[in-house]
Amino acid sequence: MPSIRFASFAIAIPLYKIFDYSIDVADRAEAGTRYRLPFANGVKTGLLLSTSDASEHDSARIKAAGQRLDQEPVLSGHMLALARWMADYYLQPLGEVLFQCLPGYLRGANKEKPARLKVWRILDADADTIAAMESRSPRQYEICRAIEQAGAGLNALQLKAINPNWHQAVRALEKKAVLEWVWAEKEAGPVVHAQWPVLSDEQDLVLSKIEARLDCFAVHLLDGITGSGKTEVFLRLMQSRLAAGFQVIYLVPEIGLTNQLIERVRQRFGEQFAISHSALTDLQRYQAWDRFQRGQVAIMLGTRSGLFSQCDRLGLIIIDEEHDHSYRQDDGIRYHARDVAIKRAQMLDIPILLGSATPSLESISNCEREHYFLYHLDHRPTRFAPPGLRLLDVRDSKLEYGCSARLFDKIEQHIQQRGQVLIYLNRRGFAPVVMCHQCGWQSLCQHCDARLTLHQSVQRLLCHHCGFTQTLPRICPDCDHGEIKHYGIGTEQLEQGLRERYPDIPVLRIDRDSISSPEALKSRLQQLQRGDPCILIGTQMIAKGHDYASITLSVILDSDQALFSASYRASERLVQTVFQVAGRSGRGDRQGEAILQTRFPQQPLMQSLVSQSYREIAQSLLRERRSVVFPPYARVVMFRADAVDLKQALAKLEDIKSLLSTAGRFGEVSCIGPMPALMTRRIGRYRAQLCLLTGNHRALRSVLHQTMPQIQQLASSARVNWTIDVDAYDM
Ligand code: ADP
Ligand code: ZN
Ligand code: ZN
Repeated sequence: MPSIRFASFAIAIPLYKIFDYSIDVADRAEAGTRYRLPFANGVKTGLLLSTSDASEHDSARIKAAGQRLDQEPVLSGHMLALARWMADYYLQPLGEVLFQCLPGYLRGANKEKPARLKVWRILDADADTIAAMESRSPRQYEICRAIEQAGAGLNALQLKAINPNWHQAVRALEKKAVLEWVWAEKEAGPVVHAQWPVLSDEQDLVLSKIEARLDCFAVHLLDGITGSGKTEVFLRLMQSRLAAGFQVIYLVPEIGLTNQLIERVRQRFGEQFAISHSALTDLQRYQAWDRFQRGQVAIMLGTRSGLFSQCDRLGLIIIDEEHDHSYRQDDGIRYHARDVAIKRAQMLDIPILLGSATPSLESISNCEREHYFLYHLDHRPTRFAPPGLRLLDVRDSKLEYGCSARLFDKIEQHIQQRGQVLIYLNRRGFAPVVMCHQCGWQSLCQHCDARLTLHQSVQRLLCHHCGFTQTLPRICPDCDHGEIKHYGIGTEQLEQGLRERYPDIPVLRIDRDSISSPEALKSRLQQLQRGDPCILIGTQMIAKGHDYASITLSVILDSDQALFSASYRASERLVQTVFQVAGRSGRGDRQGEAILQTRFPQQPLMQSLVSQSYREIAQSLLRERRSVVFPPYARVVMFRADAVDLKQALAKLEDIKSLLSTAGRFGEVSCIGPMPALMTRRIGRYRAQLCLLTGNHRALRSVLHQTMPQIQQLASSARVNWTIDVDAYDM
């Protein structure tokens, strides 16, 4: 009888390898359990994949695994299988993928720490003691009464809802031995008195069609114009899944922006949900993950990585704003959360629902191929339809901080009528170009092929790619000329200009520089919610998901550069942004307006934005993509390399290309490159790319499967690093 068993482990390192160690015979750990493992000269955390009584390696050289961290596996069999699928489909190292599926808190040596919730209960205080509080300490009295009524006790969140300063009052009551806290056994039951609006006929019809197909895997795409009540349909479907005893994952692109959604979910489902997004600490995210896993909450509301929440009874996945680029993870492990979610739903044989007013071309074409069920919502349940877009031709106009005189007129008109104005400008900072008037010197980043943006409030030049900053020079570094000028408009300059022009109107800016915390964002959004006239300026952050009734004018200030972008995705992205931004307007009881200011009103794309629906434009974009055989009619795989020297990066890709070219069927795939990336130098490294493009998915998979084992041997190093990106978003 052998005294040891062999175990293979995945470790989160960028190597396509698994590692064998020995474990005690008596150790009956299951796959998905974490151990500390001696590795190189240190210790790493590994995830057990399988055990056996024999090893193909020389057993004398196999090291013993160290401490076992978990009693029970931290990853379920289903999540292990999903991770294996991801590693195989996206051709990423299994160890890295598996650890990506774990909450950050568990990726190291932290032990599991069940999230428990404190609830406060009334000790056997006599009724008189409490009654006596009514006049002397009304706050304490209010809290006691609420706890009495709740019966099972109240948790911190519920107490906070009663009184934001609950802490003080509760501490005083604890001292008086009126209250005590205990660990809640189960989540305090939902306190829900929500009003569910009566659905419109259109919503009702969609709901009933989807409800009829909830018992098995299917992808449903809800394509509904902005404000048509898609979220309302999602909430109903969640309700019916919860009633059937299932749990639900609801993903949104950016949770910081969706305080409104969180409130809506809370109104309908009480505290039955957990939230996971990147502004939370690792521990908070772990606790959310854990509560969902234990079934303490039925709903996981999260961003991209919320998809990896595991539970026993998942019954529905919702991907809101499915077209949004932030579902793609572009660094580290490369994957698309929407596509992984679809795979997950298929593996569990459950439905998945995608929603958008501007569906991705991928999803539209999947509907045409009858891979997805398609539903439309064409009307807003509120009074007014989304505004049609109008172009403001500024070819001959003088602009002040990016705005034309006619735009000022429009803004003033809406403010006078007590509307709110939203101005979308996707450029942070004060000005994107800083130049010497005399010699043409430009402020360039030392580490990237990029300009430094002027940030006036801090009097610095900043690289938006690597974070490099320097002070704004007073004289030209090249010719000592004293006149350094800036060109172009960023949100900071627009805000300053509008503040000066309209001193009596609040001007709110929402972008990465102005929003330092979730609270800062919340306070600005609350100001919008109040409905008083104001001007909201923002980048991409304001284009998504907001529902504010008083916005009556949406402005897209400067998107002309998208017309000349090198990216084949640029038109799709522009059209989506324009429809999304326009759709923020006119959601209340007033008709909205939407304006796009442009120097290229004759451009065909600009013309179609005015005269066609998103659906029509998407159709013509799809026709273009089909004629040149680009995604979604083709698959793209990108190999990328970066090095301190461009030649080395290109050489690594040449090696990869020559391996690829030995594969059968290589001739059926177009291979473009190796060549320098569009922005060749970034963060001090030179970057190159090799692109595989083909309409023949099978041929591509076959080439990759034949050659990946050899390509995977090409180790990355600090000198030359390489990565592979399957279904790359851009080329
Ligand atoms: P979408 O998700 O399509 O943008 P929402 O579900 O957020 O749309 O709905 C837009 C607005 O219309 C919200 O303020 C919502 O409360 C309201 N709304 C949605 N459905 C109804 C309905 N059936 N009756 C009344 N108001 C509704
Ligand atoms: Zn100069
Ligand atoms: Zn830089």
